[in-house]
Order: sequence, then C-alpha cells, then structure tokens
Amino acid sequence: MTSEKKPRRIGVLTSGGDAPGMNAAVRSVVRTCIQYGVTPIGVYRGYNGLINGDMEELNARSVNGITSKGGTMLYTARCPEFATPEGLRRAVDTCRYKGIDGLIAIGGDGTFRGARDLAEHGIPTVGIPGTIDNDISCSHYSIGFDTAANTAVECIDRLADTMQSHERCSVVEVMGRGAGHLALYVGLAVGATAIITPEQPFNFETDVAEKIREGKYHGKHHFLIIVAEGTGKTDEIAERIRESTGLETRVTIIGHIQRGGSPSARDRVMASRMGHYAVLRLLEGDGNIVVVYRNSQIMHLPITEALSMKKDLDAYMYRVAAEIGI
Ligand code: ADP
Repeated sequence: MTSEKKPRRIGVLTSGGDAPGMNAAVRSVVRTCIQYGVTPIGVYRGYNGLINGDMEELNARSVNGITSKGGTMLYTARCPEFATPEGLRRAVDTCRYKGIDGLIAIGGDGTFRGARDLAEHGIPTVGIPGTIDNDISCSHYSIGFDTAANTAVECIDRLADTMQSHERCSVVEVMGRGAGHLALYVGLAVGATAIITPEQPFNFETDVAEKIREGKYHGKHHFLIIVAEGTGKTDEIAERIRESTGLETRVTIIGHIQRGGSPSARDRVMASRMGHYAVLRLLEGDGNIVVVYRNSQIMHLPITEALSMKKDLDAYMYRVAAEIGI
C-alpha cells in the first residue's frame, strides 16, 4: 500500500521472543525518525502497548548506549488479545488517538501477521525480522540469529572440553521453536557427529548409532549430538544412545542463555540498516511491507507475499555437516 501522506509520528515496538540486536534496530528507527523530522514513539510490550496506550515519545538520547545491550529496551510480550477483532480494534483506536500514523514492528512471522492486520485497518506498518530462530520464510537473515549462534557455539566449545576429557557423549539441545536453522548452523560450527532437526527426517540407527560406533572403532573418544529444541526428542535420543552404544551420555540444554548477551557486530549492523530502511519506506509511503535480507541486499516485500513463502532447511549445509561429522 502506498499513501500520499508522510507520517508525522512513527511508533516502534518489539514483539514475540526477544533477540539480541533488537535494541540496535530501535535506536536506528528512533534516530532516523529524528533525522527526518518525525516524532518517534516507543511502544512497550509488543502489541499490548498499542492496546493499552503504554507508549512514550523518545528522543535521540533515550536510546543512548543501547546498541551493545541484549534484550529490548521496549520489552516484549506475546499478546493473544491483539489477534482478536476486538483487540485489533482497540489497537487501531489507540493509534488514532495517539496520532501514530506509521508503525514499525520488530519480531517474527506472528508479529508480521499483526502488522498486516493493522495495515489493512489503515495504519501503515513495516515489519522487521527479529528472532534468533531465523525461521522467517521471507528473509535469509533475522536480527539475533548471529549472536545466538555464536553464544551457543561458545557454550558447546566449553562443554566439549570437559566431555572430551571424560570420553563422554554430549547431547546438546539448541533453541528453535519448531525450526532447526539455528541447530544446523551451530551443529556445523561445532563439528557435531549428528544434527537432529524437526525438518530433516533421520534414522537413529544409521544417522546416530552407527556413526558413533564407527567413530569409536576409528579412535574417536567424544561425540557431540546437536538436537533442535523443536524436535522434543532430546532426552529420548540420549537414552537411545546409552542403550545402543553403552557410552556415558549427558544431556545439556543451553536454553535461554542463547537469547541474551551483547549483540554481535553483524546483528548490530544489520539491525541498524533495517531500522533506517524501515523508516525511509514509511516516509516514501509504503505501509504493508516487511523488510527482508535476500541475496545480500536489504529490500522489502508485501507482508502477505512474505508470509506465504516457505523456508526449507539448507539441505546442502545439512549434507556438509553429515559428511564431515565422522
Ligand atoms: P513471533 O513474532 O516471534 O512469531 P508470536 O507468534 O508469538 O511471535 O507473535 C507475536 C505476537 O504477534 C502475538 O502475541 C500476537 O500479538 C501477534 N500475532 C501473532 N499471530 C497473529 C495473527 N494471526 N493475527 C494477528 N496478530 C498475531
């Protein structure tokens, strides 16, 4: 949707799961707004803030020093009420009442569905991909993935040192709500023997047990199996490894540690670029779009088109990991 009227007050919110780098995106939105004579409004706790009017005007100094901080200064929350007609109506009313005539929503696919609904009700809205899972179909990159991957790799490297000394098998659960992109990437980075994701079918006997037995035969003492949280099978896989190989096997769930910490340079830079781009799109009159990173470029797509896309696990990356994890 393209409109003639330039927004005067642009709201920014973070929604869904938090991701390191969201702060850098918020800072970029706020300062780009100021640069172009628009008033930035920080909306708190995702779509809850739109429903309740929980928001305030920000200025260049409100976002001082936040680039290096994980989490989100605007807080984030899920808001089931917003997905109801009544919740949406209240959010639209609040935008009108507060004079918000453009909104930038940083989050995942759920957040983009909300953004599309708002745009269809006359509030020009731009989505920015922010989730550590990198499961947003339309974009090859989402804010937070790089930091989360590096954090998980650091944790697993530390774990591998001790497990190696004891000649144990580690089964490590990596985050990913129904998606294995983070587990696959991390698994390749740490040199896992096997990576188990919800997307990729696997055969326990040939893909795990046999590989461990082979490795043992060829003098390998320590095994690392990465399991994506979304499989819901971490404990079961560890138990089966114990039974079928006799190895002392320990489960480690990295958990929420993966979400926190100072964002990587890549996340900060991408977040800054995407935030700037989103404001310029609103100023150009776009308002039912999502900012995406495709083929090494920041660009945008209509939200409906973005939501209709499908993202497969990188089959070649999976093959590389499987073939060198011996
Ligand atoms: P993410 O944005 O990371 O995918 P969620 O799926 O939890 O996270 O969505 C975040 C928020 O977006 C929800 O709490 C809700 O407010 C809003 N949302 C999610 N799905 C929809 C939908 N189908 N229609 C409208 N709003 C939605």
